[in-house]
Amino acid sequence: MDFSEIQQQEAQHMMPTYGRFPVALTSGKGAVAMDTEGKEYIDFTSGIGVNSLGYCDDGWVQAVSRQAARLQHISNLYYSDVQTELAGRLCELTGYSKVFLCNSGAEANECAIKLARKYSEEKYGQQRSNIVTLKNSFHGRTITTLAATGQEVFHQYFFPFTQGFSYAEANNLDSVKSCVDEHTCALLIELVQGEGGVLPLEKGFVQQLSLFCKERDILLMVDEVQTGVSRTGSLYCFEQYDIRPDVFTSAKGLGGGVPIGACLCTEELGNVLSQGQHGTTFGGNPIASAAALEVLSRVSGKEFLQQVREKGDYLRAKLEAIPGVTQVRGLGMMLGVQLEKDNAKEVAGACVQHGLLILTAKNVLRLLPPLTISYEEMDKGLAILQKVIANCK
Ligand SMILES: *Cc1c(COP(=O)(O)O)cnc(C)c1O
Repeated sequence: MDFSEIQQQEAQHMMPTYGRFPVALTSGKGAVAMDTEGKEYIDFTSGIGVNSLGYCDDGWVQAVSRQAARLQHISNLYYSDVQTELAGRLCELTGYSKVFLCNSGAEANECAIKLARKYSEEKYGQQRSNIVTLKNSFHGRTITTLAATGQEVFHQYFFPFTQGFSYAEANNLDSVKSCVDEHTCALLIELVQGEGGVLPLEKGFVQQLSLFCKERDILLMVDEVQTGVSRTGSLYCFEQYDIRPDVFTSAKGLGGGVPIGACLCTEELGNVLSQGQHGTTFGGNPIASAAALEVLSRVSGKEFLQQVREKGDYLRAKLEAIPGVTQVRGLGMMLGVQLEKDNAKEVAGACVQHGLLILTAKNVLRLLPPLTISYEEMDKGLAILQKVIANCK
């Protein structure tokens, strides 16, 4: 099928929920994708932080295909060796106690929200179910995670939304305190707001938040769906903030390209969700578990993490030197680029034409390259970006 046929088919048969770039990608290797016409693209997106090891990494392909040939799926009515191994690995690597496996970021956050509400209800009664999130956050697309998302544009059309969320200003402890009352059971935050424009929270604020939550027995829950799995230079971003949330969620990069989500909690919370109170058909699916085991075995080592930080620093320095760039922000290989002409959308579109895949978040360019990208590939992508920024009105 050529591109125009694909485009036609999409328009005819798919709900028009996505604004797409006019390209159909059909294969890839490492940090290079190829389209229907055989044109190559340097990839600064990893499919929005999903393909941690790039396209079709040899070890990842082997792990997935080996599991597909052995056992692709079983019901959660039965035990699975790969699933329990993944749970064990996640806990061992993070020091957390228990995990619930699901299929996406939104689902991981749904689990966190259910866990917080049940914990609080059992301990304090029904009136303590409210959750505070931050303005400009993003937590998912289900009705409840939309309600958790602190952006008014997401609170349209789908009424009634789930009750019990309020939104505090980021980096403002007084604002958080004014949102918290005796009905509050948890705080849910991203440490680097991704969709909101690649905005890292201030460390002092996060640490104060953590103390404040502990004093009140309010659960601190960190949404690491985008920041997790070594993206920011540590396996999970909270390590760099020197805090230990009660609950954190993971998804995007965890499976390296297959759908998976995880919600982890401390020992104290490990049995809050008990038999029959939560579940999913696909969660912890053997293929997804095998994929995640391979990803974790590759990205969690000291040396690899050091390389992620070095590549992040390299990208940041090169981006800052591009004429027309006014600010670069983020952590590790999760970077946002503010442009002088404030034309990130146009630049991202032109980059595709010139062979570079790059994301935007609000009005900034957003880079989430595969963690395994080479320096040569980074240089190629940066050269395209520099040319496009210079030529874009
Ligand atoms: C992408 C994202 C989500 C939603 O994940 P899905 O897999 O699309 O449901 C939630 N939180 C954050 C921080 C994200 O970046």
